[in-house]
Amino acid sequence: LSVALLSTALVCGVSPVRADLGKVETFQFQAEVTRLMDILIHSLYSNRDVFLRELISNANDAIDKIRFQALTDSSALVAGEDLHIKIKVDLSSRTITVEDSGVGMTKQDMINNLGTIAKSGTSAFLEQISKDLESGGGADTANLIGQFGVGFYSAFLVADKITVVSKNNNDPKQWRWSSKTNSGFTIKEDDSEPLGRGTKVILEVKEDAAEYLDIGLLEELIKRYSEFIVFPIYVYKEVP
Ligand code: ADP
Ligand code: MG
Repeated sequence: LSVALLSTALVCGVSPVRADLGKVETFQFQAEVTRLMDILIHSLYSNRDVFLRELISNANDAIDKIRFQALTDSSALVAGEDLHIKIKVDLSSRTITVEDSGVGMTKQDMINNLGTIAKSGTSAFLEQISKDLESGGGADTANLIGQFGVGFYSAFLVADKITVVSKNNNDPKQWRWSSKTNSGFTIKEDDSEPLGRGTKVILEVKEDAAEYLDIGLLEELIKRYSEFIVFPIYVYKEVP
């Protein structure tokens, strides 16, 4: 679709800078990442709530990182800046959005961290868990996953499609990462509302995970999972 838009834009004589916005780059997930996603999705099916804990903890880590950077680089943060996590449900688009004013990701960070470089320990984890699954799985699988930390990809437990919009101080542009599970991911420049700095993770909720569009349930999960979160979490409610 974006490719088609691009050629229309050129025909209309829109400047090349603008046309560049439509350039979509496609990437494959690293094989280990794909395997990890498969295992998580099959083993955690009855424990899908964890996706929210993982997204909140990533938001918290990202805010920690920018605060840490600001210790040695006073320009990293604006004095008195509100560091927060915001969670929003939109019923018309069936989306859950988790937004933070953390460090954000450059384009290269997105390529590396969200799909092409498996985090350390992944192959050891996969090896252990394959053995365990062969012998029937069970408590050991749950333990292993707990120790490893399920991470960002657990969002695919409840989402068909994930979009990550991010802006980092070290990249002049805001980027949009997008994926529908195993199909790999795309990255393009983002032309939606500027974040200033930080990250917005948008989940398009699966047909069979509609219960998570209930803000009441989300609030309950947030309370359960935010024990160690030091930054404020705001929950938006869609006004009908
Ligand atoms: P972990 O948190 O254990 O490193 P995850 O799978 O949860 O693993 O996340 C992978 C990486 O993606 C993180 O290490 C971080 O670099 C990046 N990331 C994920 N969410 C965010 C976010 N909200 N802001 C900035 N970076 C993020
Ligand atoms: Mg994490």
